[in-house]
Amino acid sequence: MGVSRKLNFLITGVSSGFGRAFADAALQAGHSVIGTVRNQEAKREFENIAPGGAKAIVLDVTDFSSIDGAIASAVEGVSPIDVLVNNAGYGHEGALEESSLDEMRRQFDVNVFGAVAMIKAVLPSMRARRSGHIINITSMGGFITMPGIAYYCGSKFALEGISETLAKEVADFGIKVTAVAPGSFRTDWAGRSMVRSPRSIPDYDAVIDPIRSARQDKSGRQLGDPAKAAQVLLDIACAPDAPVHLLLGRDAVKLVREKMAKMGEDIDAWEKVSVSTDFQ
Ligand code: NAP
Repeated sequence: MGVSRKLNFLITGVSSGFGRAFADAALQAGHSVIGTVRNQEAKREFENIAPGGAKAIVLDVTDFSSIDGAIASAVEGVSPIDVLVNNAGYGHEGALEESSLDEMRRQFDVNVFGAVAMIKAVLPSMRARRSGHIINITSMGGFITMPGIAYYCGSKFALEGISETLAKEVADFGIKVTAVAPGSFRTDWAGRSMVRSPRSIPDYDAVIDPIRSARQDKSGRQLGDPAKAAQVLLDIACAPDAPVHLLLGRDAVKLVREKMAKMGEDIDAWEKVSVSTDFQ
């Protein structure tokens, strides 16, 4: 595969982790990158990586009313966005009953509404040019679940569904959509970026505490290498056969496959009941 022409990437959340790895790989391959960051220091730091090739805009993806203007001024005088990578996001951890609705809203604002707002900002230009690629970073948590991350999984399930639907809506315009679902990768996700609701209901000790401490212990030692993920992302960017769903990492492949198989078994086991509700 591989890309043959110089592309203009717009990547959200390039201060660390996947976003930085994606940006580094694209810049090293000779593409230009507009990256979003959340403060002036991060902007200076990012632009210093590749003066002329790397441009940063200070933007919180939940500042919805600023998105159109920020992108318009970033692309002024340069080429339009060829590839949008919706990467910015974070994980909320906490038992559902212990976690506030405000925490849920914030999780969906960043991981879902922010991504959709970015998509809406680039679609008119991509549609006019009959070309473009929208890559949404979801998670294996967009397919599988575990206790303690209901809001996070809910947000990633939502982004998977939105990505798949959008892919069908824009295919005829030459625009591709790929939802990339990583397993556990070595980034700041489970470290500085994770929002953890305080524990308050002892009944949940047995289910939440071991998962919380296992995740904290594993942070920094995850199997997935963001630099390798970045190479894959570059390969699929604008590849004519880019998939709508792509898992990254052995853990993601194993766990999602098991989930799909179990769902298939459940559909088979309950098929008679399921089909009994039709008029005929
Ligand atoms: P990370 O190193 O913590 O990076 C997260 C990035 O998102 C940072 O640049 C952060 O900016 C930015 N961000 C967070 N909230 C934002 C907001 N409201 N507006 C703009 N930018 C915001 O973690 P990461 O693992 O690379 O996360 C990137 C994506 O991968 C996320 O969507 C995450 O859910 C997904 N993912 C990660 C894993 C994993 O194991 N690492 C697995 C599956 C999916 P600041 O520096 O300003 O905070």
